[in-house]
Amino acid sequence: MAYDFSDKIAFVTGGARGIGRAVVEKLLYGNAFVVTAYNKSRTEAESLCRDAESKGKKLYALKCDVSDPDDVRSAAEYIEKSFGRLDFLVNNAGITSDGLVLRMKDEQWIKVISTDLNGVFYCTRAALKLMLKQRYGRIVNISSVIGLYGNAGQANYAAAKAGIIGFSKSVAREMGSRNILINVVAPGYIETDMVSGIPENAKSRILASIPQTRYGTPADVANVVCFLLSDDAGYMNGAVLDVNGGMY
Ligand code: NDP
Repeated sequence: MAYDFSDKIAFVTGGARGIGRAVVEKLLYGNAFVVTAYNKSRTEAESLCRDAESKGKKLYALKCDVSDPDDVRSAAEYIEKSFGRLDFLVNNAGITSDGLVLRMKDEQWIKVISTDLNGVFYCTRAALKLMLKQRYGRIVNISSVIGLYGNAGQANYAAAKAGIIGFSKSVAREMGSRNILINVVAPGYIETDMVSGIPENAKSRILASIPQTRYGTPADVANVVCFLLSDDAGYMNGAVLDVNGGMY
């Protein structure tokens, strides 16, 4: 479904690849002005911007490591100076660094929590300052099925993704009366670089656990994210929507 986002300013973290890219593309299709943050994928981000420009769409990419509060502050300043407002925030950036708890290094734990959970806090806090002024905002945070049921070898990732849910439900209670709504999407296994490294035997085990017998696509997730950003979801706040083919 195509939404009309023509007067909306959106900030999407990690929009150069994977799920974030699909969200950016769908927002652009709805004629939003999109700012996306990249960390390592500068080339992909720049090429996405050129592609958008050739189609008459408005996309700006900036380097912003979401785990760095100063980077996030600078991104928010850029958005405030350029547009004076922010309507949508999609906290999509995320990483994994797997290992069993007994062997997990401090750095693995800290890196995943810093990016996947602290990043959501830094970006949400910065966005709220802008959204409060205009008494309007829609925030969608990308959690994971792993945050709901856990996974051996991903305690750091599961903790961050479960943390996003508690965080979002709390912000929903703080901000609901100000017309700022915050919801969560919890994808199952989606075909992106993040899952491409899973060994074949594990992949067939995962597929067997998905009633729809296929992995999700980035567009499957982007569709639900854009629904939550749209007016159709105007009475949803603090919700967690599963996009996992029925696996959980
Ligand atoms: P990808 O690995 O394809 O993309 C990850 C994105 O996150 C990239 O755009 C990357 O940007 C960005 N990113 C990572 N670290 C940072 C950082 N420090 N600052 C800014 N951006 C950063 O993963 P997916 O598209 O699959 O994942 C997107 C989100 O969906 C993640 O939060 C992930 O946990 C979640 N998810 C994914 C599932 C899946 O099966 N694929 C399932 C459930 C949830 P760059 O390349 O520029 O560094």
